[in-house]
Amino acid sequence: LTILGIETSCDETAAAVVARDAEGRGEILGEVVLSQLEEHSAYGGVVPEIAARAHVEALDSLISEALLRAGRSLDDVDAIAATSGPGLIGGLIVGLMTGKAIARATGKPLYAVNHLEGHALTARLTDGLSFPYLMLLVSGGHTQLVLVRGVDDYERWGTTIDDALGEAFDKTAKLLGLPYPGGPAVERMAKTGNPERFTFPRPLVGEARLDFSFSGLKTAVRQAAQSIEPVTEQDVADICASFQRAVSRTLKDRIGRGLERFRTLFPDVETPALVVAGGVAANAELRATLQALCDKHKFRFIAPPLALCTDNASMIAWAGLERMAAGFAPDDLAVAPRSRWPLDREAATVLGSGK
Ligand code: ATP
Ligand code: MG
Ligand code: FE
Repeated sequence: LTILGIETSCDETAAAVVARDAEGRGEILGEVVLSQLEEHSAYGGVVPEIAARAHVEALDSLISEALLRAGRSLDDVDAIAATSGPGLIGGLIVGLMTGKAIARATGKPLYAVNHLEGHALTARLTDGLSFPYLMLLVSGGHTQLVLVRGVDDYERWGTTIDDALGEAFDKTAKLLGLPYPGGPAVERMAKTGNPERFTFPRPLVGEARLDFSFSGLKTAVRQAAQSIEPVTEQDVADICASFQRAVSRTLKDRIGRGLERFRTLFPDVETPALVVAGGVAANAELRATLQALCDKHKFRFIAPPLALCTDNASMIAWAGLERMAAGFAPDDLAVAPRSRWPLDREAATVLGSGK
């Protein structure tokens, strides 16, 4: 099976052609991602209207490019998969409508894919992982610990009650006068800083529920910065290092509990695995923390290549292929994009498709 995937939910425009063989092995035949980072950096964050326009301008040629790289034409693909939520509604409309138009014109089935399902299933494309496993998604828009039981079968164990982790990095950077996106800048500064200088809060650490909270951390960073006059480069480095230390300790506690819960629920899974996804997965200290935690709990730690951790269309194509292979019916061309769309079936029922 071969599928064309389209991703436009945030600030990356992406298209990919991915194949899946009878044994369930996946292969990326051609992919292309266009980041809008430059368009948004002057504003210190993603501007929805700019994002939607940029998707419109780029998407058609990116699809052609992905097909070209794959050496395929639209006739060769079996289906179209497009992200239909969650995300910025303007971008979702662009991607989903384009997917629908191609499906209508070629008569091929359309799969409306949940962006989070794309992140959740990526490790099966890269590492052939079997169900069940745990996935930690840490990006600019999401912070979730999810039990991946099967295709379309997810249980959200924890989520942030305020800021996403990537957002906390971005806001911290902004407070300290560092450039956007904040994650790489904070990580760079932290290298020369003293992580012991400030003791920043570690919200929810010790609690049985597996949720996260990062807004208090940001406030503490602001107070620390305001308490020093003038703030030197070394002060900024110390704050960054202390911030990263607090995040690292928080993840260790929260995820550690998740690994224990997994063990209790699935004592028969021989080598359980934790998969990480999202842009924050680029952070070397956080990766090392998760790796050490997994070693301690005898879990496999799987960090797919960064290009597949951040937003991309290969994961959307793959999720479509997984849905096809699992026997899910294609979506009706009347399917609507949803800015909110939790992965968890129970949460999805409560929230419905609206806000
Ligand atoms: P989504 O809709 O999936 O949440 P997004 O565009 O917000 O999409 P990603 O592109 O996956 O998320 O990741 C971007 C985030 O990752 C930003 O918040 C950025 O600061 C953060 N990030 C990138 N590199 C690092 C790093 N080295 N350390 C920490 N955070 C990082
Ligand atoms: Mg992004
Ligand atoms: Fe994403």
